[in-house]
Amino acid sequence: MISVRPDLRALDGYHSPQVDVRVRLNTNESPEPPPPAFRDAVAAEVSRVAWHRYPDRAATELRAAIADSHDVDPAMVFVANGSNEVLQTVLLAYAGPGRTVATFAPTYQMHGHIARVTGAQVVEGERAADFTLDPAEVDRVVAESQPHVVFLTSPNNPTGLAEPVDRVRQLLASVPGLVVVDEAYAQFADWTALDLVGEDVPLVVTRTFSKTWSMAAARLGYLIGPAALVAELEKVVLPYHLDAVKQVAGRLALRFSAEMDARVKQIVAERERISTDLAALDVDVVPSGANFVLFRPRRHAGREIWQGLVDRSILVRDCSGWPRLDNCLRVTVGTTAENTEFLDAMRALLALPPTTDENGASR
Ligand code: PMP
Repeated sequence: MISVRPDLRALDGYHSPQVDVRVRLNTNESPEPPPPAFRDAVAAEVSRVAWHRYPDRAATELRAAIADSHDVDPAMVFVANGSNEVLQTVLLAYAGPGRTVATFAPTYQMHGHIARVTGAQVVEGERAADFTLDPAEVDRVVAESQPHVVFLTSPNNPTGLAEPVDRVRQLLASVPGLVVVDEAYAQFADWTALDLVGEDVPLVVTRTFSKTWSMAAARLGYLIGPAALVAELEKVVLPYHLDAVKQVAGRLALRFSAEMDARVKQIVAERERISTDLAALDVDVVPSGANFVLFRPRRHAGREIWQGLVDRSILVRDCSGWPRLDNCLRVTVGTTAENTEFLDAMRALLALPPTTDENGASR
């Protein structure tokens, strides 16, 4: 009889329910594709790929291009299939059985999930009710669990809050192991932990092409960290993990950084419009430094609003059943037209009398 590892039996997979709708605002992707010139450049280079050969195992040109964009040495860059695979590789190398990983909830659930899959023990610190992280809680978790790896997500998902730089400094001063700052949404925020990275600092910063670069379909992410750490990751990751087409796409995307900056600016402006307009309604809004906004209806059940939006063919993320996120919904910033449609629907739904209470029971 085959049987799965006992420690995996109790684990739930990571789910992001998909519903067939017109306006898709649930997975924090970019609402716009990359520019047509990018597609043309990729098509031209892909036609020259040596399909019968394995790709460049070290992804030399792509790493050089990423390193150049951050003004670091290419030996400080590790690239993988989405930042999720970057995180998995870090955890395979630095977590695993007998080791401890700390996160501060609510945060990106994959950090804890991947850590558990590697066999590590996960310790969850608690954020305050407004989702900020108390320095005393950071000290408590570090002192009690002496983690081998600690995660901070800045801006955090699903709350949108940017973590203060002092929290990263505090962790670097107190954690015995590695600090991972997940910056999947950093381009939408005011600061980056990249400035703190150095050869003798136990810090890595992870980034993705899935959001600002409009390339979620490509599955490409990377980290910047000490070269010695990157060399360890190269031992752990599978040989030729990064296919030739992806290496081309990532390298060419970086030539369109001006277009990317323009998209980011537009999304930040729309995020501010969504936040301001929602705050004028009967909902609490969490200040966001990302490309999404977390909000909580005051009188209506989150699930009821989510369903009302789906009935209007608009999909947002229902976080209302997640621990510490009672009644919360998360909307990804879409195109101007999509955001207007979402806001109009919210005004209409919140003007209706609630039919269920916040626990889902009929009134
Ligand atoms: N980190 C965070 C905080 C995220 O929100 C996401 C995407 N949901 C990821 C990492 C994974 O991104 P990728 O597409 O690069 O695997």
